[in-house]
Amino acid sequence: MDCVLVAGGAGYIGSHACKALSKAGYIPVCYDNLSTGWEEAVKFGPFERGDLLDRARIDEVLAKHKPIAIMHFAALSQVGESMDDPGLYWRTNVMGSLNLIEAAVEADIKNFIFSSTCATYGDQDNVVLDENSVQQPINAYGASKRAVENILYDFERRYGLRHVIFRYFNVAGADPEGEVGEYHQPETHLIPLMLDAIDGKRDALTIFGTDYDTPDGTCIRDYVHVCDLVDAHLLGLNWLKDGKQSEVFNLGTGAGFSVRAVVDHSKDVTNKAVPIIERTRRAGDCTQLVSGSTKAESELGWTPVRSNLKAMIGDAWRWHQTGHYSK
Ligand code: UDP
Repeated sequence: MDCVLVAGGAGYIGSHACKALSKAGYIPVCYDNLSTGWEEAVKFGPFERGDLLDRARIDEVLAKHKPIAIMHFAALSQVGESMDDPGLYWRTNVMGSLNLIEAAVEADIKNFIFSSTCATYGDQDNVVLDENSVQQPINAYGASKRAVENILYDFERRYGLRHVIFRYFNVAGADPEGEVGEYHQPETHLIPLMLDAIDGKRDALTIFGTDYDTPDGTCIRDYVHVCDLVDAHLLGLNWLKDGKQSEVFNLGTGAGFSVRAVVDHSKDVTNKAVPIIERTRRAGDCTQLVSGSTKAESELGWTPVRSNLKAMIGDAWRWHQTGHYSK
């Protein structure tokens, strides 16, 4: 069976990718330093503990497993933290990725799939964003991801390393079978924090900013189910294996929901109220991020099936009640 190296395979999205790869007949080799991931989430293939800043360790793992492709999920991804400590984001996300990309070239790996983000677009007046929208990130997280995209363009030109770049919108939900799910320590993302507030694990959900230029004053995001997202990665892998050209795809649904709309939907799913505190804006947050592209559908053949708020909150709620990792 072919191996795929999954950098960040112990994290939220990476662990779902490992499950999907294993179901599709690959051996997912998880490379993770467990800084934000969980060893308990590594269930679908071998675990190689290691850091992306440790080039010798990456070389060793690539030589041992000889993967046919790399899926690179390993990164820090909190907008607020990236504003507080931009150096941490440039070091971890950019230097770490450069190490992995250079190691891939030296190991003669041909296929590289990279997790980028809609945060590379920044705050824009146009309602929806497609792959040709100008990239003007307003936080260090988005800037670090855009830098890695640029590295990939240069390495394709010079070394022929082909890539698929996925610009994720807001990833949500959990494995419907409950084997893996979202669990960050500390948590900063809207839906898990809201579920914590619903079941009393925290006093309330803080809404960051109610004075945005949106119909209800709160930020608008485009939520995509983690299982749909990893399905796109499998399609991206086939795309590269078929010898097709490097590409960039947005992964969003085109539907934007405000923070208040997400809260309202959660009442329908959980039958419980969400205690709320309203606060000022969080540094680095864009007013609205919604994908305006159907390129992944038309070119990759991607069909999101669980990316509606009911399924995303429902799957997250089931996971939240049963599935936390202990450490
Ligand atoms: N948000 C919020 N309260 C929280 C966490 C997030 O109001 O405790 C808002 C945040 O300002 C943003 C949206 O929810 O508008 C999604 O934030 P999240 O951190 O989940 O993802 P991001 O869009 O930053 O990647």
